[in-house]
Amino acid sequence: MMRSMREHVSVVVPVYNEAENLPELRRRLAAALDSTGRPWEVIFVNDASTDGSAAIVRDFHREDGRFKLISFSRNFGHQPAITAGIHQATGACVILLDGDLQDPPEVVPAMVEKWAEGYQVVLGERISRVDGAGARGIGFRLFYPFMRRLVDLPTGPDAGIFGLMDRAVIDQFNRLPERNRFIPGLRTWLGFKRTSVPYARQARAGGQPKQTLGRLIKYALDGMISFSYKPLRWVTYMGFAVSGVTFLLAVYYFITFFAFHKKWGEGFTTIIICVLFLGGIQMISIGILGEYVARIYEEVKQRPLYVVEETVGLGTGRSGGKDSEELSLSRLA
Ligand code: UDP
Ligand code: MG
Repeated sequence: MMRSMREHVSVVVPVYNEAENLPELRRRLAAALDSTGRPWEVIFVNDASTDGSAAIVRDFHREDGRFKLISFSRNFGHQPAITAGIHQATGACVILLDGDLQDPPEVVPAMVEKWAEGYQVVLGERISRVDGAGARGIGFRLFYPFMRRLVDLPTGPDAGIFGLMDRAVIDQFNRLPERNRFIPGLRTWLGFKRTSVPYARQARAGGQPKQTLGRLIKYALDGMISFSYKPLRWVTYMGFAVSGVTFLLAVYYFITFFAFHKKWGEGFTTIIICVLFLGGIQMISIGILGEYVARIYEEVKQRPLYVVEETVGLGTGRSGGKDSEELSLSRLA
């Protein structure tokens, strides 16, 4: 199935203090989108930047109405920002792209082409990356392979958020109610006809990474916990393993005591090690349980995912109702 050239493309870009990258991003993105020959819009989601990013996007909008802006009332994070952009996007397909030029805009036309051929999800597959050797770099490299083994989902290529989703996928995505969002996982969970386009993940163009290490760890935990019960199963296995070893030890002690009349007087070290070991296992187990319980609590509270302070160039949005602040206010009323 070929898609009509009149169907338009939306791009969602989360922005947190990316002022120095925005002009180049705009130039390269506009060139890439123009080359598709389709109508397009770019929605910048300003996650409460403090460096004037919002003013820059407002200027973009003044010069070219296809650039639009959503500003949050405070910093909510990467995944809520992307979600807000997706809620407002009206395109026949939506492309997600980071605001730091790590995802090169030049790959976008290839994604649109795959979509025009009939694919509904087009992933940007990272064939190389330049994350460096620091804790973040090692973390990124370990996380995705680990995640792929852990989760109860079909495995996919090495892909982050960079990718395209068809309107049919976006409409389903907008029905997902959860607060703790791991968007690559949700996208895999949704299914649909998929393909990928290879690209080389670039170094961040300017500035420091805006995701703190703490946020990245939470993101990684969200990924594992929202898509897998395996950590809970590990707790069970640990319990069985410890009980099994204890039982064998008990048998050993009884036999040596009754059959060989061995006196078990000493053993200070053994006792200390056993007690601390069990204490550690119990705390880890409670911690794992706690990760699930905390997420249940957050889901139950049903707070909106983000609060919008200002929009520029956007209507009420196509499906913005679900998580936007209007709904939560009407719920209070
Ligand atoms: N970002 C955001 N809110 C945040 C942190 C980051 O909207 O609280 C944006 C940021 O501006 C960038 C994208 O999310 O466009 C990815 O962030 P970053 O490059 O810091 O993360 P990394 O590439 O290290 O995962
Ligand atoms: Mg980045």
